[in-house]
Amino acid sequence: QRKGLNVEVDMDTSESSRHFALCSTGCMGICETGPRVRIEPEGIQYLRVSPEDVEEIVEETLEKGNIVYRLVQQETINGETRYWPLVKDDPFYRKQVRVVLRNCGSIDPESIDEYLRNDGYRALAKVVTSMTPDEVIAEVTKSGLRGRGGGGFPTGRKWQFARMVKADLKYVVCNGDEGDPGAFMNRCLMEGDPHAVLEGLAIAGYAIGAREGFIYVRAEYPLAVNRLRKAIESAYQAGLLGENILGSDFSFDIHIKEGAGAFVCGEETALIASIEGKRGMPRPRPPYPAQSGLWGKPTIINNVETLANVPQIILNGAEWFRSFGTPSSPGTKTFALTGKVKNTGLVEVPMGITLRELVFEVGGGIPGNKSFKAVQIGGPSGGCLTEAHLDLPIDYDSLCSAGAIMGSGGLVVLDEDTCIVEVARFFMSFTQSESCGKCVPCREGTKHLLGLLQKIVNGTASMEDLELLEETAQVVKDASLCGLGKTAPNPVLTTLRYFRDEYIDHIVHRI
Ligand code: SF4
Repeated sequence: QRKGLNVEVDMDTSESSRHFALCSTGCMGICETGPRVRIEPEGIQYLRVSPEDVEEIVEETLEKGNIVYRLVQQETINGETRYWPLVKDDPFYRKQVRVVLRNCGSIDPESIDEYLRNDGYRALAKVVTSMTPDEVIAEVTKSGLRGRGGGGFPTGRKWQFARMVKADLKYVVCNGDEGDPGAFMNRCLMEGDPHAVLEGLAIAGYAIGAREGFIYVRAEYPLAVNRLRKAIESAYQAGLLGENILGSDFSFDIHIKEGAGAFVCGEETALIASIEGKRGMPRPRPPYPAQSGLWGKPTIINNVETLANVPQIILNGAEWFRSFGTPSSPGTKTFALTGKVKNTGLVEVPMGITLRELVFEVGGGIPGNKSFKAVQIGGPSGGCLTEAHLDLPIDYDSLCSAGAIMGSGGLVVLDEDTCIVEVARFFMSFTQSESCGKCVPCREGTKHLLGLLQKIVNGTASMEDLELLEETAQVVKDASLCGLGKTAPNPVLTTLRYFRDEYIDHIVHRI
């Protein structure tokens, strides 16, 4: 990531003369094994590379074409060690389908030329030169793309609502306010392929009839902010943003708004208030942002990953997109795979993959021969899934039926040593401190829930406290104003549903 890393060299070896370019890329996926070096076009990957390894890589691989096996991904099964020098063979990538992450880790995110060479801005060119806004919305609707930020609302329908409203001004907003503990999907996408986000946002603007877009991104993501700024600048220079894009009637400007890190600003109405320069607090809906959003104008808000899917849908068609995933949840989903799993990192898998495949094949299983206990999916607003759910397909509807939600894609794996009540307490402490305080059920309820969880963890609670915990969680869920409060009790409710015995153990044995 260092400045000035990108260099080009000509190298003469005994057989031939080769030209090499060295560039920094976005995230390649397995954070666990960074820093990584990938040599293309061979697709050789080296892990945990340090400056001392460079000479050997140059001499052995670049000059002689040999693999440096000590830097290669390896796996020991029944005493036999297997090596995975090539990306295409690596079990970590085998089940992955990279649609939105297709460029992450393989192109220089600061070069618009590299993005253009990889079909970049072809979808925008296609819509402004040969499609009407209604045709764009019809294609996105046909693809079945659903919002990747958590709710899973159909994207085409959202765009249609905003398109139908008559207004002199409309806005599109990219929600990059990723704040869940353990989640970094949007961050990696903005850092690794910022132009894909800009292109998706411009297409959304064209579809609903907006000429201005905002990217709301956390100030805690300085590299993402920097790369987005550079990408916007180079898109303007290339005539892909601004007035009359590619000679068409469509003009579009993009602004960046840095958020100050309040989790509640990921909620659409709070995010709108924050862009308007007000305190980021949710307001009751209706009116919905598609009717009355930024400065009272029709506004659509889409998550980073949702928008990055759009250029691929326009270029390859709705049917192509529907060839991945399930009929009700087409496409792929990125997950930040963390916790007690061997391959922690960023992954993109087709919807409908089972939890078992995700944790044990892509994730490589649980380290230290421990057993799997559960996963917390969807961050602090999500829920807990157990061993009984290992064969559950991961899609919006299946997760909902199990009492969890997709959320934005945080997936924390827990092993046999994890105290489940402590996990619920951790997430409640997060949502309690992030509650904006506007409505009583969330402001007071989360505090009360946290106090009860603390008592249980400390071994000082009674069985009445357990009943009160469940009752209060339900009240907070039913009576809170916005999504933060409505979903804050989910970790408590799902862990109570599947691990009630552990709560009782704490109470009965005072541990
Ligand atoms: Fe604020 Fe919580 Fe009420 Fe949402 S539910 S408005 S975060 S107090």
